[in-house]
Amino acid sequence: MKLLTFKGGVHPPEKKELSKDSPLENFKIPEKVYLYLVQSAGAPPKLLVEKGQEVKTGQKIAETSSIISSNLHSPITGVVEDITKMFHPILGAPSDLLIIKRTDEKDEWDLLDSIDFEKADSKNLVERIKEAGIVGLGGAAFPTHVKLSPPKEIDTLIINGAECEPYLTVDHRLMLERTEDLITGIRIIMKILKVKRAIIGVETNKRDAIDTLNRFAGNGIEIAPLKTKYPQGAEKQLIKAILNREVPSGGLPMDVKVVVQNVGTAIAIKEAVVDGKPLIERGLTITGEGVKTPKNIVARIGTPIEELIEFAGGYNGTVEKVILGGPMMGIAVPNTSIPTMKGTSGIVVLTREVTGSLYTRNCIRCGRCIEACPMNLRPNVLYKLVKMKRYDDAVNEGLLDCIECGSCAYICPSKIDHVRHLKLGKKVYRALRRGK
Ligand code: SF4
Ligand code: SF4
Repeated sequence: MKLLTFKGGVHPPEKKELSKDSPLENFKIPEKVYLYLVQSAGAPPKLLVEKGQEVKTGQKIAETSSIISSNLHSPITGVVEDITKMFHPILGAPSDLLIIKRTDEKDEWDLLDSIDFEKADSKNLVERIKEAGIVGLGGAAFPTHVKLSPPKEIDTLIINGAECEPYLTVDHRLMLERTEDLITGIRIIMKILKVKRAIIGVETNKRDAIDTLNRFAGNGIEIAPLKTKYPQGAEKQLIKAILNREVPSGGLPMDVKVVVQNVGTAIAIKEAVVDGKPLIERGLTITGEGVKTPKNIVARIGTPIEELIEFAGGYNGTVEKVILGGPMMGIAVPNTSIPTMKGTSGIVVLTREVTGSLYTRNCIRCGRCIEACPMNLRPNVLYKLVKMKRYDDAVNEGLLDCIECGSCAYICPSKIDHVRHLKLGKKVYRALRRGK
């Protein structure tokens, strides 16, 4: 059978064997959590608490400040010890941070009421998702209530179970261990979007997940086995592979009547609606050759990375890089006191033997980056234009269509870090457009 896929892409070593058979474990409730106010795409939420205030687990501590923004809740019961600033690895600058100290052995929850989703209307369900501070858990952390309020008609929901990033296995475990919650989450989203069809896309390197999900298929839910290739889980590539629809340049999935949600997000939606739980914890993979016992865990948001690495047996060998997220699209952190965020799908610890030489050489015009680019771009040309500060020319060449997947940098024999430059190029271009 010919497997569904897209044009371009790369085949990095999967490295999923390090953690894929490790069942989800609950990490202990931390003594302190470090919560960035900015946890999602969009505007920072407005703070509702002050230093010295007592808070309960699940209590709302910051609320949306604009259309694209999300609520924030306390992950533990304790006291707000400090409101300060700390380097934010995604923003690349110091950012507002709350430190909450645990004061109570009990983990007293401030839960919302349970909603019978079969009887509720779409508006109430979206309002609950907004109230619970749900964001996309695949990494992008876009507020989910906004994504589930498309101004266009939708005919298909796609659930992203591809988990194409090397090393990461938490979505795999969620599909195996939380199947019923996932299916309930999908039914809630189908009700919100008023769609009759939902397709869960899963790469064939997760055969056991495909088999498990197939037992729950039916009543509009289908499973689509996908070829194992990076970046199979990128929205546009997923839609092309599953439905053979092309999202136009500069467009969104809703332009082709589709909404894509990640596996973990669907489960968080079930928890918010049925169990009344705000988003204060998430599943993530702690892995890489640089830790002794790679694991899949559920941990409170705001837990320092160093505590989670310790939980995975501590360091193994000479560590070169610690990455938030997967090695292709994740961000290397400057130190391990950085806490996890809502969008943190994994922590990958890499040794020097794995990363190899980081020495960059000149482009040898081999064209491999062009072949690998899933967006049909010429990454070598874009890189050159951005380096020359020819931002308008780079945009005409397709800079804004780049999905920052890193396939070009991965395949490049000269070890050119296209992505860093292309991200910067987009940032500078947009700032110039805004007149800054
Ligand atoms: S140019 Fe952008 S979309 Fe193309 S391979 Fe590189 S990072 Fe991916
Ligand atoms: S893969 Fe690297 S060396 Fe080859 S054309 Fe692209 S940028 Fe140049």
